[in-house]
Amino acid sequence: MKKAFKYILLKHFLTVLGSFTILLFCFLTNKVNSTSIKNNEKNFPIERPLNLFNLEESADTIFNLVQKVGGKPVANIQKTRLKKNENLSSLLKRINFEPNHIIKIINSIKKLNKGPKILSSLPIGMIINYSNPSSLTGGALKLNYTKTRDIFVWQDVKNEYNSQVFLRPTRTEETLITGVINNNLYISALKSGIPENTLLEMISLLGFSIDFQREIRSGDSFEVLFTKKIDTLSNFIIETKPIKYVSMNLSGNKLNFFSYKDKFGLPQYYDENGKSSKRTIMKTPINGARLSSRYGNRKHPILGYTKMHRGLDFAAPSGTPVFAAGDGIIEKAGWYGSYGKYIKIRHTGTYKTAYAHLSGFHKNVRIGKRVLQGKIIGYVGTTGRSTGPHLHYEVIKNNIQVNPLKIKLPAGKNVSKENLVDYKNHIKSILNQKIALEKSNQNNVIAINNHNMSNKLIFN
Ligand SMILES: [Zn+2]
Repeated sequence: MKKAFKYILLKHFLTVLGSFTILLFCFLTNKVNSTSIKNNEKNFPIERPLNLFNLEESADTIFNLVQKVGGKPVANIQKTRLKKNENLSSLLKRINFEPNHIIKIINSIKKLNKGPKILSSLPIGMIINYSNPSSLTGGALKLNYTKTRDIFVWQDVKNEYNSQVFLRPTRTEETLITGVINNNLYISALKSGIPENTLLEMISLLGFSIDFQREIRSGDSFEVLFTKKIDTLSNFIIETKPIKYVSMNLSGNKLNFFSYKDKFGLPQYYDENGKSSKRTIMKTPINGARLSSRYGNRKHPILGYTKMHRGLDFAAPSGTPVFAAGDGIIEKAGWYGSYGKYIKIRHTGTYKTAYAHLSGFHKNVRIGKRVLQGKIIGYVGTTGRSTGPHLHYEVIKNNIQVNPLKIKLPAGKNVSKENLVDYKNHIKSILNQKIALEKSNQNNVIAINNHNMSNKLIFN
């Protein structure tokens, strides 16, 4: 009896110990898993699993989608776009679907997860491929609903309509683009295959160090490294990530910048020594404008006599956005005599900047409000005493206008001392990636050349 009691007690003890061990084990493995995922996120971008949200992969054509789902065969596939003031019903009517088919199609989409929301949020201009139903062929629609999702509607062999959301397959690619400038950076860079938003990023980050109007010569070269996400079906770039590395070679003078996350997790750019790419004030707070009048004495175009011009004039079409030249607080925003519509920003203790002859202010601009560098504050105009649309830009140091092109601007925040070792390692890994990409780019060129040669052989 006593023995039996002891046995039960032991058994209980073992059960408790067992469950505790299992719990501990679960806890530990869980912890190990989650840290390893975190590390992965940090070091390698994880490919999105294809079964995310349990969506199947889309296909490039309606025909292939019908094959995939085993629907009624389609023929004579056509293409249209959703027009303004149109919904799916009116669109279907326009492309000659019968009313009873339209009702069935709409009902089948309504049955999807968040179906009614999908129907009310179809984007204007969305491409729709379709096949009209007939006695022999099935009705089918492929809606390019978002960049990553297609909605497919098809008729099965029993003539019932079915709907399903498909995920467009994507892949991410590290990309290194190099190029030589033929008198214009913008055109040369676009020709070299840099996506436009990456180019704008590149220009705004280099804009602090390079005067694009005077410092660029033909033969100067550039390199840029970034990650892009590509739609595997269409081969279109659907997203680009912030630039990782950019380099400009200006008449042998090399400038390199690397992205590195600041304490808020935002990418900032620094040179190889950890010096910030940012200056506290931009020399040119506008994109693509021509410097039409410099700082100094000049004959005034309206008043006729010689007058000191205490700023820079940038000729640009009315409506061209004007940026805040630096972080600061709006001190003035309103009409200011011959300056017309005028904004003044107070930056650090010593610097202010002013923007005149504007056609209007950005809706967020209010006196006393904080603005960030590079944000739009207003638009070029010709208000006040002005002969044509231009931005009159002043840099004011200790309440006196100075020549914006001559001032030595203090830099933004550099990489902190405690992060410097980590930063240098980070640069090393980016440069290694660059070298690997250079090799694979070269291999691609060789492959293309070989391909061309073999083509020639065949055709000759
Ligand atoms: Zn001016």
